[in-house]
Amino acid sequence: MKEVKNPRKPLIYYYGIAVLVIFLFNLIVTPVLMNRQVKEVDYGTFMEMIDKKNIGKVEVDDSEILFTDKENETIYKTGAMNDPTLTQRLYDCGAKFSKDVDQTMSPLLSGILSFVVPLLIFFVLGQYMSKKLIEQAGGKNAMSFGMGKSNAKIYVQSTQGIHFSDVAGEDEAKESLKEIVDYLHNPDKYTQVGASMPKGILLVGPPGTGKTMLAKAVAGEAQVPFFSISGSEFVEMFVGMGASKVRDLFKQAKEKAPCIVFIDEIDAIGKKRDGQMGGNDEREQTLNQLLTEMDGFEGNNGVMILAATNRPESLDPALTRPGRFDRRVPVELPDLQGREAILKVHAKKIKVADDVNFHTIARMASGASGAELANIVNEAALRAVRDNRTVVNEADLEESIETVIAGYQKKNAVLSDQERKVVSYHEIGHALVAALQTHSAPVQKITIIPRTSGALGYTMQVEQGDKYLLTKQELENKIATFTGGRAAEEIVFHEITTGASNDIEQATKLARSMITRYGMSEEFDMVAMETVTNQYLGGDTSLACSAETQKEIDEKVVAIVKEQHEKAKKLLEENREVLDKLAMYLCEKETITGEEFMEILNKEGGMQK
Ligand code: ADP
Ligand code: ZN
Repeated sequence: MKEVKNPRKPLIYYYGIAVLVIFLFNLIVTPVLMNRQVKEVDYGTFMEMIDKKNIGKVEVDDSEILFTDKENETIYKTGAMNDPTLTQRLYDCGAKFSKDVDQTMSPLLSGILSFVVPLLIFFVLGQYMSKKLIEQAGGKNAMSFGMGKSNAKIYVQSTQGIHFSDVAGEDEAKESLKEIVDYLHNPDKYTQVGASMPKGILLVGPPGTGKTMLAKAVAGEAQVPFFSISGSEFVEMFVGMGASKVRDLFKQAKEKAPCIVFIDEIDAIGKKRDGQMGGNDEREQTLNQLLTEMDGFEGNNGVMILAATNRPESLDPALTRPGRFDRRVPVELPDLQGREAILKVHAKKIKVADDVNFHTIARMASGASGAELANIVNEAALRAVRDNRTVVNEADLEESIETVIAGYQKKNAVLSDQERKVVSYHEIGHALVAALQTHSAPVQKITIIPRTSGALGYTMQVEQGDKYLLTKQELENKIATFTGGRAAEEIVFHEITTGASNDIEQATKLARSMITRYGMSEEFDMVAMETVTNQYLGGDTSLACSAETQKEIDEKVVAIVKEQHEKAKKLLEENREVLDKLAMYLCEKETITGEEFMEILNKEGGMQK
């Protein structure tokens, strides 16, 4: 069965209509309602009413007089006359002199009329229309479960054919999930002992690491139905659908038990309820309903909830407490071995030459997620087709790593000779600084072919294996390597270019982390000045220190980067000859490998020091 998405209109569409409705309403309806009828009378009637003491409020203007009767019901208007005793007579009859004989309604009432009423009309209409739409969509496919009022659609997917063996690496996660499979196969084994399964399992990790795949594999291995819904689908445009969708989902799931319910992006509904004004009520109701449902069924009824998120820190604590999502399975970025395994799994789907060394490819693709690796393999296959070949070779894979990392080659970008020279020196600067510092990883490849990402060239460094700990020295060396490109430009051309912005960014980030997070400065010792708020999505940080400390941090960051920049310059100056040789060679060749680089370096004696 296929997944079907609800038809969705962009938000701006709805806002646009809302504004239009308010505008039209105010244009046509409000003016009619707003002005209470003003009755125009002659001066005689006015005097008569004064005599009868039937005047409530009065407002005397230069040209006209507005007044009301005793009951303040009707507003009258008459022209002003030269009547010197008028004020005295009005006073005698007990009239109130007022500056605002209301021609208009109270501000509250008019506010309601001009904004709330049209909005209400708009929402009622919208609600109606959306139901119509959903009904229409539901009519076309069989997977709509029209339950009660909500008409929520729930997707039951066939997971036939997806097994744990399709998910490479992630052994710890698989281990943890195998228990679930075993339980679904054989619940008696667990109930006999009195053990109950966790109700919910939270898969946390960066995007593209195979969380959805793992959930599907659990269902595939256990051969049970797989209900899948994304957190954001609960929170729809129109009020009240989220909670009833949750109800429907669980009703369906209980009927089909044992089964797997998979909620992707659960952070969309499970965010912390912070009680702030203007919070999302709809989301909160949905979350509450989810919590209620999870509390409502016993651990052993065979409905297993798997949820995925890449922002675990933003989840409501109520969701992660025992009895709800009480087991957390980390699905991290694959390590070297994992990457190799993933590449091999995906390479099975394409024709690959026998001599391809997946270990090398995996080393080159350090930091790539499972999804990116799958993409790399596919890009390589496409490249082979473009070249009219029937098998994929190692060069295809290498090139596609660069494509995925840096974008396609810009075939027609023409660099001037001077620019080529500058870029060559810049890249060699990075590589040479890296190589000259004994602790730096060797260089895999250097190229000056411009990429669509905007990079004019780059140096690909290769880690020997996965590194889990970095020493202070190693971090400093990394910073020096980042500054190496600019340093070479300075030494050779005595001029600096815009080409180093990315280097600067990375060097700064590292230096800052050293001080604020790794406790690598003497003054701050082991005090955290920054906390990571977004571990799996780019690792954003938020500062947690006073303004004075911030200033100090900034100064220290500058000092670190400066020191390493100086070091890089010194290293390059001392090896000026080999720098020139290498840069010329690269400028001519466009792409050189790590071996070529090391050969020249060793021949020129740069490494003897
Ligand atoms: P997530 O849900 O974590 O964002 P997905 O499960 O949707 O990631 O993975 C996206 C794609 O990436 C999968 O369809 C698969 O092709 C590939 N992929 C990710 N991780 C792995 C893995 N460990 N083994 C094999 N393929 C993987
Ligand atoms: Zn650079």
